Amino acid sequence: MKIVVLPGDGIGPETVAVAVDALQAVSGRFNLGLRLEHDVAGHDSLKRHGATVTPALLEKVKAADGLLLGPMSTYDFKDEAKGEINPSKYFRKSLDLYANIRPARTYPGMRARLGEFDLVVVRENTEGFYADRNIESGGSEMLITPDVVVSLRRITRQCCERIARSAFELAMTRKKHVTIVHKANVLKIGDGMFIDMCHQVGKEFPDVRVDDVIVDAMMAHVVRAPDRYDVIVTTNMFGDILSDLTAELSGSLGLGGSLNAGRDHAMGQAAHGSAPDIAGLDIANPISQLLSAAMLLNWYGQRRGQRNFMDASAAMERAIASAIESGECTRDVGGSLGTRAAGEAYLRHLQAA
Ligand code: NAD
Repeated sequence: MKIVVLPGDGIGPETVAVAVDALQAVSGRFNLGLRLEHDVAGHDSLKRHGATVTPALLEKVKAADGLLLGPMSTYDFKDEAKGEINPSKYFRKSLDLYANIRPARTYPGMRARLGEFDLVVVRENTEGFYADRNIESGGSEMLITPDVVVSLRRITRQCCERIARSAFELAMTRKKHVTIVHKANVLKIGDGMFIDMCHQVGKEFPDVRVDDVIVDAMMAHVVRAPDRYDVIVTTNMFGDILSDLTAELSGSLGLGGSLNAGRDHAMGQAAHGSAPDIAGLDIANPISQLLSAAMLLNWYGQRRGQRNFMDASAAMERAIASAIESGECTRDVGGSLGTRAAGEAYLRHLQAA
């Protein structure tokens, strides 16, 4: 398996380095034959190539089997004409990575603020309120007059159908419960279509229990009783917001692993951003990036029917749980280690996992 590794901005180089060490460790032990190709995106690429991402890099990623992407300082990138492209968007759109899978769970040994839970947010990743990926060329956010902005939200039957299918298929491997999160009380046509398509797909999965919740109320429900949920399927922006909340409810945004998957490509990238407030301080939690790397291996193994990749992924996840249980982790999740030391401790847990 060839994986392109792009460390990204802010805390990215610190957390991605830990994930790279872990990938190298499981490659030998599980006979994965991983080949890691290192390159740059974001600020480093802007300095070096005049653009945060380049078509040549995209070609390299297309030719590989997976991408491990660090967080990006997206907010800094304002003008595509100056090469300031949002790399996360670029890969999601160019590789059609429509399913953003964001698990959130509590771990033994860590204080569970709201009791134990284990859920997954399945977020549509290619349209919705994200005006930067809605139309073929240009953006769909327009300055109509100096005082008026219009941002278009796109919802298509095809994208609703495929994200619903991802959610139901995932639910079949878990507790067989899908919750559709929407705002169809206001966005009656767009989210109406989203709900209809989810229910339509749901009919193919009669063993899966389905319910739906309006997104604003969902914020209360998920804080009140996160253990009520299993798989939550929702549109792009709602999923982005909800998954940061569920990651933090599980203990820290630094636990927020995430896989961006399409039919032919996948990208492991932590759910959070580049965390400039803690960049370079050796305190960022590397678990989000480790989990994202583990999810990438699992995606590849499932697609190819290669058990050793799924086993490696499971070992990486077990090592996360055992590092947390032993308290050998960063401060945000109750430990006292820095990023590098947490990474070294993690490798020891991985050997035994
Ligand atoms: P953020 O997600 O970077 O940080 C939010 C808070 O969580 C901060 O207090 C940060 O220190 C903390 N945090 C994040 N990751 C952590 C980790 N691994 N361990 C411990 N604490 C962690 O959000 P922000 O500060 O609003 O955004 C910073 C930049 O990231 C912006 O430019 C934004 O556009 C970008 N962003 C990128 C992505 C992405 O690349 N996928 C996602 C979200 C935000």
